[in-house]
Order: sequence, then structure tokens, then C-alpha cells
Amino acid sequence: MTAFCPTCEDYRETKVVEREETYDVRGRRITVPVKAELCAACGESLGSDTEDQTILDAVHAEYRRQADLLTPERIKEVRKQYRLSQKSFAALLGMSEATINRYEQGGLQDPAHDTAIRACERSGVIRDLLVRRGTLLSEWQRQRVEEALAGQPDPNAEVLERLGESTGYACRERSVSVPGSAVSITADLPVPWCGSVLTCKRFRAPRSTSFFSMRTS
Ligand SMILES: [Zn+2]
Repeated sequence: MTAFCPTCEDYRETKVVEREETYDVRGRRITVPVKAELCAACGESLGSDTEDQTILDAVHAEYRRQADLLTPERIKEVRKQYRLSQKSFAALLGMSEATINRYEQGGLQDPAHDTAIRACERSGVIRDLLVRRGTLLSEWQRQRVEEALAGQPDPNAEVLERLGESTGYACRERSVSVPGSAVSITADLPVPWCGSVLTCKRFRAPRSTSFFSMRTS
């Protein structure tokens, strides 16, 4: 591998070294193994932003392990257990949608927020929150939570799963993300295996990913 070294002001061979780096996270010393790409001539670090993000993720993961905080995956699982959108979950917890989204993307959570989210592992807590703050949710969302609490199967789950299998697109909740921007559809899409019709409407999300909103009917 070669890369441009700003110190040598030229392209240089690079070497990868493994070492441990220690970071201070909320007053705790967190040490993680790091692979660093260096200029073979002068030793300058030529790390990319991607590497920086990987290191940050590793540091956060290690901090969560030591501080016994929920992982981003677990936070998402707790929310999905009740078929809640990020917006609705946030509303029930008195947090912002952006906050929940950040935690699920790997941002380090506030300890008080962690406790609140962890409490929701018990369905009784969600029932209680629904009584107190259920009016903040849409009728559709309230119905989804009630169904989840009643242990009823998710009518959309199988449709999305099958759609994902047949198209290769990632399906989650009621949206399908399509990599690239070549596809443009606004259409009713019959789904032969379940007899329902998905209403697909395209709208563009940030970066190069297109999203379809879907409604089963
Ligand atoms: Zn150099």
C-alpha cells in the first residue's frame, strides 16, 4: 500500500502496526487495540476518518462493557420488541427522536437514559408509559404497541421479510431501503404470496440511499 504522506510531501509505502491506545471517556481510562497505518519512511500516522470512527466505536463498546450499559443493538431490540418507531419510543421516554437514533447508531448514552431504556425491557413499564403518555403516539402506533403487548404476531413482519428475500433490499419496519438512486417507483406493488398490496412512494433520503414508504392494504 502507498499513501500520500503530508510530512514527506510525497507518496510513500505504508506499514500497519498494532498497538494499544488509551482514551479518556467520562473520567474512565479506556484502552483498546488499534491498527494504525503509518508512513514507512517517517512514521507519520496516515489514518483515515474511517479508522478514526472504527476506533471510536471500539472505545465506546469497551466503555459500555465496563460501565454495564446497553449495546446499540440491544437498545434497538428493546424498542422493536414493542414495534415502536424511534419517534414513538422517544416520546414515551421523554427523549428526542434524534437521541434514540444516535444511541442506536453507536453514540454513547447518558447513564440516566440507559436506566430508563433498560427498564423498558419489562413490558409492564411500557404499559405504564402508554397509560401516561400514549396520547403522544399516533392511533396506528398505539395499535401496533397494543398488539405487541398482547403477543399478537406482526402482520407486516412476514411481508417485509419476503420482500427482502425476493428483492435483496434491506427491509425494516415499514420501509425498504434501496442502495443507489437508479430506481424510481411510485406504485402499488402487489405481493402475491400474501395477497396484499404495498403502496410504495419514493422519497430521497440523505446520501445516496433511496427509501420507499410502504403501506399494506
Ligand atoms: Zn512520511
